[in-house]
Amino acid sequence: MNAQPDTQSRNPSWHERARSLKLRTQAFIDGRYVAAASGATFDTVNPATGKVLASVAAGDQADIDRAVAGARAVFRKGSWAGLAPARRKKILLRFADLIDTHAEELALTETLDMGKPISDSLKIDIPGAAGCLRWYAEAIDKVYDEIAPTGPNALATITREPLGVVGAIVPWNYPLLMAAWKFAPVLAAGNSLVLKPSEKSPLTALRVAELAIEAGVPPGVLNVVPGFGQTAGKALALHMDVDCIAFTGSTATGRLVMQYAGQSNLKRVSLECGGKSPNIVMADYPDLDKAATAAAWAIFGNQGEVCSAGSRLLLQEGIRDAVLEKVQAVSRNLQPGDPLDPDTTLGAIVDEVQLKRVMGYIDTGRRDGATVRFGGSQVRKDSGGYFVEPTVFEGVKPGMTIAREEIFGPVLAAVTFKTVDEAIEIANDVIYGLAAAVWTRDVTTAHRVARAVRAGTVFINCYDADDITVPFGGFKQSGIGRDKSLHALEKYTELKTTWLDLS
Ligand code: NAD
Repeated sequence: MNAQPDTQSRNPSWHERARSLKLRTQAFIDGRYVAAASGATFDTVNPATGKVLASVAAGDQADIDRAVAGARAVFRKGSWAGLAPARRKKILLRFADLIDTHAEELALTETLDMGKPISDSLKIDIPGAAGCLRWYAEAIDKVYDEIAPTGPNALATITREPLGVVGAIVPWNYPLLMAAWKFAPVLAAGNSLVLKPSEKSPLTALRVAELAIEAGVPPGVLNVVPGFGQTAGKALALHMDVDCIAFTGSTATGRLVMQYAGQSNLKRVSLECGGKSPNIVMADYPDLDKAATAAAWAIFGNQGEVCSAGSRLLLQEGIRDAVLEKVQAVSRNLQPGDPLDPDTTLGAIVDEVQLKRVMGYIDTGRRDGATVRFGGSQVRKDSGGYFVEPTVFEGVKPGMTIAREEIFGPVLAAVTFKTVDEAIEIANDVIYGLAAAVWTRDVTTAHRVARAVRAGTVFINCYDADDITVPFGGFKQSGIGRDKSLHALEKYTELKTTWLDLS
């Protein structure tokens, strides 16, 4: 099925390519593309135009059963789990190379399916996915097991084994990258995987599954079943033969996934959920322009559809106007545009549902008495797509809905505070704890805030610093467990103790 691009663009080349782009739309099970057992399909829409991009297999219980059975069979056979780590490494490195080789095709698919700027897909999402895969491939033959200090009459080894069949459920904001944060460590550790991408952005995951086979990953090790959360996602999380569910998505769905694990086989659950991250700027920070520029990118980048977005800007009294003026100046260059134009920095909101959700929060903010300092409107309506301009609320009180709930759009709530203690209290007074930042020249304040704020990542004098070597995940209702770094391997392996009596 071919993509239907926005013909208004001034850049013909990506549009030209979109016309001849071949999209994979069937489920990928046991190494081949198949229709859903029911024959059902669902439409995925290009958020930049509102037009149907493709009809995709709507997997449900029967397809999940089939994928899990295949994943289990190959795991038992040991044709992947039983390979020496160095052999898996070689294949996964080839897989990463193939993602690089197809980077432009994958970037175009991602942008058409999800609405993010093509420059982001090319610079962030696709190289990030390949880099993640390469990192776990390189790591896996350097991880050693342990021998316990039991004394001379026994040998007790502590070894890590793959779990078996892992189910991964991922969201739409970084479709391939969030999938890679799962499939790279899951496969490196020797597991089989059934991946359920978001129904809003299933296409890149379906394409890379085929590349895995080309790289030499045995059929059945990496399966992709597209479908809705209530059907395919639920069936995967409830499945009696899935050993672990690795979930990224909203806190509300994360709660359900935990319930499904409890209702079925007590499968291991890891959750990467939502956030409402505080970005705290102290008046002593000497470069307020730098802090404001980072604050703008922290909330408007990727259309604000970022779990760790700095969606609450906490400003010490006296610097509010200086910072917000600069945020506004930066956001002039962050206006929504055609995602296929390489100069575009802000793309479309993923679909109409999310657009309405974002606009609903803007209405709520106004109703609750906060003031729109700039932005606040849907734009580019003529395109048929879903675009929202960068929006900043000031006069926000910590108790207001827009200061407490995740909006997942380009909407910033600016709150003022007087003291460091007050900033910490406001920062912690939400259900989330994914990320936080503090900008200050005072090293004591920096460390005090970093220790006191309950968040998985705290940035000091920066925002959105990122590297595959560091763990990522949340405190509180932002999740359980960590993606990235060697810590992610803990989620996808079981510890085994083996005693040998030497007496
Ligand atoms: P979502 O919870 O609606 O959906 C996420 C995934 O869960 C999708 O694949 C969906 O089909 C599936 N799902 C929905 N209902 C389900 C059910 N009942 N059973 C099983 N699966 C179900 O979230 P979303 O709107 O796709 O993504 C946005 C959310 O993801 C935001 O809250 C964001 O903060 C979060 N997120 C978190 C991280 C992180 O690392 N912490 C990263 C990216 C996104």
